Amino acid sequence: MEFEEQIRDDSGTDRSWNIPFYSNEKLNNLPENKGKFSWVLRDELAQAMEELGIVSNNERVLFCNIAYMKHYDCLNYEEKPINGGQYIIDTGDAFEKYNFHRCEDGMVRGFVETKYVGGYKNGNRTPKQLHIENIDPSYKEQDEIDYVTVVFCAKNPDKNIDKTVIVGWYKNAKVYRNRKEYLERPFNLETKYEHAILLSEDERTFEIPRAKSNDDNIGFGQANIWYANKNEHKSFVDEVLKYIDAYTKEKYEKDVSKENLTQDDELNEEITNHRFNGDETFEYTKEVVKKQEPKISFHGVLIYKRERKRANNAIIHSKHQCEIDAKHISFKRKNDGFPYMEAHHLIPMSKQDLFEYSLDVEENIVSLCSQCHREIHHGENADALIKKLYNDRKKITEE
Ligand SMILES: [Zn+2]
Ligand SMILES: [Zn+2]
Repeated sequence: MEFEEQIRDDSGTDRSWNIPFYSNEKLNNLPENKGKFSWVLRDELAQAMEELGIVSNNERVLFCNIAYMKHYDCLNYEEKPINGGQYIIDTGDAFEKYNFHRCEDGMVRGFVETKYVGGYKNGNRTPKQLHIENIDPSYKEQDEIDYVTVVFCAKNPDKNIDKTVIVGWYKNAKVYRNRKEYLERPFNLETKYEHAILLSEDERTFEIPRAKSNDDNIGFGQANIWYANKNEHKSFVDEVLKYIDAYTKEKYEKDVSKENLTQDDELNEEITNHRFNGDETFEYTKEVVKKQEPKISFHGVLIYKRERKRANNAIIHSKHQCEIDAKHISFKRKNDGFPYMEAHHLIPMSKQDLFEYSLDVEENIVSLCSQCHREIHHGENADALIKKLYNDRKKITEE
């Protein structure tokens, strides 16, 4: 089957691009995937296979009722948790205040209160377990379970709303039976930062009913955890998952591409200000470069710095020619009279967080005339251009 062959064959170059370059009709025609072309990484591939029904797609889900907060990132924002139960009333504190804080290792570690055996005022303070076998019965003997969609819900304190709503979620999360500790704070939920989405306050409109309000017991009862594992819960759960998928893809990807386009524009602005002297040469080193620490933008998008020097090197390597076709004519630069070229990252920098090594290396940067550069971002024919550039690069880096 074409799909599986590509997984085996397109395993990237001998560099650290540990990606299959992947363009597949079926993958590209997934209804959620509006783009015509994708770079797909191995873990995305696993997800795609799931979506294509090649592996089971029985999605694991866990609903968690937590205190209401705007940011859930108390290391960066000062705020008090609201509507969180007795412990919070007594102490004014809640461990869920770290739920959307990006840890130094790129993870988020979240907490849902499981309460204590015999109540929290009971002297021995033994936390209750999280019954992960209710997420998947085959995990009865296990201490943790992977690939869970964790849906965080909280009671919106706004007098006009006053309802339990979805405030955010983790995709591909690990859920622990017993709470763990990270830097002395307890957590029982964990995922990569890029798989965690926190809704802005005005987006928190998806209502979760109280179990006692309906015949099917949909929603939270007394506990802060709802496993939603009964047959009569299924259609509601599907509705939630559909909502999450649509949101995740559309909004987040829009933010990512917007912020990264701005970065790319700034890079090309800097290249324009550079003065090439004409006797520089550049050869690929084929050394892997550790990626830099990202900055986090206002929208929670990770931004990796582009180094002007590397983009300049790539343009020098191309001899100031367009890598789609060296015959393309461009105007002359004001600074030095060389043909004007722009730098474009073949594997977009917006995907950097998924890679161990830097994508901001000359081997991944191509020199393009402005016409081709616009076409690659906005043109109907972009697929063919990207494919050509990729194949050319693959040859060069394998030499
Ligand atoms: Zn570009
Ligand atoms: Zn061109």
